[in-house]
Amino acid sequence: MSDTPAPDLKPSFRSDVTVQLVKHSASDTDVLWAARVSTAGEQSLDELSKDPERSRGLINYLMRDRHGSPFEHNSMTFFISAPIFVFREFMRHRVGWSYNEESGRYRELQPVFYVPDADRKLVQQGRPGKYEFVEGSEEQRELTARTLENTYTQAYEAYQEMLAGGVAREVARAALPVGLYSSMYATCNARSLMNFLSLRTQHELATVPSFPQREIEMVGQEMEARWAELMPLTHAAFNKNGRVGP
Ligand SMILES: Cc1cc2nc3c(=O)[nH]c(=O)nc-3n(C[C@H](O)[C@H](O)[C@H](O)COP(=O)(O)OP(=O)(O)OC[C@H]3O[C@@H](n4cnc5c(N)ncnc54)[C@H](O)[C@@H]3O)c2cc1C
Repeated sequence: MSDTPAPDLKPSFRSDVTVQLVKHSASDTDVLWAARVSTAGEQSLDELSKDPERSRGLINYLMRDRHGSPFEHNSMTFFISAPIFVFREFMRHRVGWSYNEESGRYRELQPVFYVPDADRKLVQQGRPGKYEFVEGSEEQRELTARTLENTYTQAYEAYQEMLAGGVAREVARAALPVGLYSSMYATCNARSLMNFLSLRTQHELATVPSFPQREIEMVGQEMEARWAELMPLTHAAFNKNGRVGP
């Protein structure tokens, strides 16, 4: 008898994302000792607790003048579960990021699919690069949910049929749509995270606005909240300086 539970073949539908900070070594002091080595050499660690206002000022100066490398001496690992179309955008962020994602070759993919909730604006108006999203009607919301759920259910049945017929997982997965949830670990540092947030979140303090897809923004907002708890001075300086990655 196998201990592995039988897969649940009935699709389930989600509208949210999961973001968990699973591991970290990240604090504002990591920025300070890295920056102060410029002037204090090997004594830079002793300088840390000397003057909190000076520390705040130094971090702000580094951010303002885009001296970026002191923001790299830290590490945050996130567990993220989100639709594949989010990961496709996420993994365009190449610098200062490490990724490991669940495999569709080595495991049977679970039937968890994305359906937008009532808060997700459905209708795009304007031209590319200069458009906005508006709510959409009740009819459009019902159409979206019904069509997506039917498509997902059919696709997952096709996947299961191929697996039952002896087709390899890596071939059968071609039937599955990008609304399928995947999961990954993503490790970054504050500098690479700030570049990500500058592009993948919308914020009133941003001096260079970006227009990300809502679902990757949901991931970004969760990551930002965890990061802000770890590095409050750095986060404040990021906001104060227009949310431009240093
Ligand atoms: C709103 C939005 C719409 C988008 N639309 C599209 C789209 O339609 N099609 C599409 O293909 N992509 C699209 N992208 C992806 C975008 O082009 C970037 O690939 C993505 O945002 C990653 O940004 P990045 O290169 O700054 O990140 P990273 O890869 O993490 O790079 C960080 C920084 O390192 C430097 N860098 C990295 N690689 C190089 C290099 N090879 N040469 C020189 N400098 C480098 C740059 O300064 C860069 O900003 C979109 C992104 C956003 C935010």
